Amino acid sequence: MSMVRRSLPVLLLAAASCSPAPEVPADLILLGGTVWTGVPGAPPAQAVALKAGFIQAVGTDREVRALRGPGTEVVRLQGRMVLPGFIDSHTHFIDGGFQLSSVDLRDADSPEEFARRITEFARTVPPGTWITGGDWDHERWGGELPSRKWIDEGTPNHPVLVTRLDQHMALANSLALEMAGVTGSTRVPFGGAMVRDPETGEPTGILRNEAMGLVTRVIPEPSEEALDGALDAAVQHALSNGVTQTHNMGTWEHLETFRRARADGRLKVRVYAAVPMETWEGLRDFVAEEGTGDDRLWWGGLKGFVDGSLGSTTAWFYEPYADDPGTSGLVTTDTASLRSWIQGGDAAGLQIIIHAIGDRANDWLLDVFQDAAERNGPRDRRFRIEHAQHLSQAAIPRFAAQGVIASMQPYHAIDDGRWAEKRIGPDRIKTTYAFRSLLDAGATLAFGSDWTVAPMDVLEGIYGAVTRRTLDGAHPGGWVPEEKITLEETLTAYTLGAAFSGFMEEKVGRIQPGRYADLVVLSRDLFLTDPVDIPSVKVEMTIVEGAIVYRNEG
Ligand SMILES: [Zn+2]
Repeated sequence: MSMVRRSLPVLLLAAASCSPAPEVPADLILLGGTVWTGVPGAPPAQAVALKAGFIQAVGTDREVRALRGPGTEVVRLQGRMVLPGFIDSHTHFIDGGFQLSSVDLRDADSPEEFARRITEFARTVPPGTWITGGDWDHERWGGELPSRKWIDEGTPNHPVLVTRLDQHMALANSLALEMAGVTGSTRVPFGGAMVRDPETGEPTGILRNEAMGLVTRVIPEPSEEALDGALDAAVQHALSNGVTQTHNMGTWEHLETFRRARADGRLKVRVYAAVPMETWEGLRDFVAEEGTGDDRLWWGGLKGFVDGSLGSTTAWFYEPYADDPGTSGLVTTDTASLRSWIQGGDAAGLQIIIHAIGDRANDWLLDVFQDAAERNGPRDRRFRIEHAQHLSQAAIPRFAAQGVIASMQPYHAIDDGRWAEKRIGPDRIKTTYAFRSLLDAGATLAFGSDWTVAPMDVLEGIYGAVTRRTLDGAHPGGWVPEEKITLEETLTAYTLGAAFSGFMEEKVGRIQPGRYADLVVLSRDLFLTDPVDIPSVKVEMTIVEGAIVYRNEG
């Protein structure tokens, strides 16, 4: 009978976790807390023992205390909560590391403040230095796009290319445009757009998507030293957020930076490093020669784009934008090329990880995935759609049916939720960040931040998925509240679901004997916390492979 079969693994697990082996003392034990193991139906535990980088036991204080030896380090949790380490399944990790030391425009909430911060930052760096990053958001001051005129006076000697937080458009100052040779008559590349002054036809400095390349191509490449510094800063930032593993949506240069850090023992988080989709043949050959790495740093994934973003009005929809009826978004990669790369990369056994935001982009991608799977035959391929932000009703069941992972970022829901209805109207918002519908249809959710597009703050993300309260406070009961999910479902998406999306679900993502000891300790039990207060919960300690790599000393 199915009941009996189902209960058997639970009994085995209980037996394993209760069998103390006093002759093998633990390296580290955590006592007196609440342990969320991530194992459905498992009894609540109080304590965890770690040995040689792995979880040795999880159970009651009495059971775990029995593993204490003379050399065992003891951490007293005093009611704090232990969870599997958070996995951020979508970051631009090294870009984020650079952003930590660049001008911060994320919460600049007026044109004056935007200009003031850039001007002040320019005073702190030598003339001629490029000012990049920024992560501005024009929705903070009502939606007017910034212009180079706002910042030219304060930056006569610094070329500037500051990006919107979604990285899908940027503002260049006049010096940067001049250095790049961009004028009103410059031809804009496919997949991009340039905003021009309606009277003079001159560029305002706003470049969308592929048009950013007109300027980025003249920005000097960062040195290895600078890349290493950015990575180290990003690692510290991740650990302070309880993140023990991340999936980097980046470049070959990033992969080489991770490999240097891995070789030097500086890579204190686990990293799955994806490289650009169009380089799939390069990755196929690299894997044939070098393999796919190890459990600390691995590769084998290809990241591509179908479309742009909602915030930049470049996400690809069937219907026009409500606030810009002249456009329904754009395709940022030539679809024939993207289709052939996906088929090629999939045939080569690589994982395909594609950004799709608009409903039309998602449907197009699901079709291409289906086609590739049929042509290349069955295998454990784990196609991923990154963001899966606006879905047609028909798309929702296809994720489960086709085995496509929805890699989503709940912070985006409470951020974009402030103004999404203005952009796409009242109907399309109903299937925006459709967490509940996707789970109910049987899909796997993998959660992440999209840092540096959004903060790498997992507790904000948990809050976002559970409450759907937008950042502006305008939806106290939740924005599209039908799509809220439970705390347990949210935590699963940040642990086991995210691990699955990177082929690590057997090794991390739950607190079970034999898995890697990647753990996070929070200041409070989330299950006893009012969801509204989740953002105030602190990360107290982060453990990767049994080593305490972060402690909150604050
Ligand atoms: Zn991204």
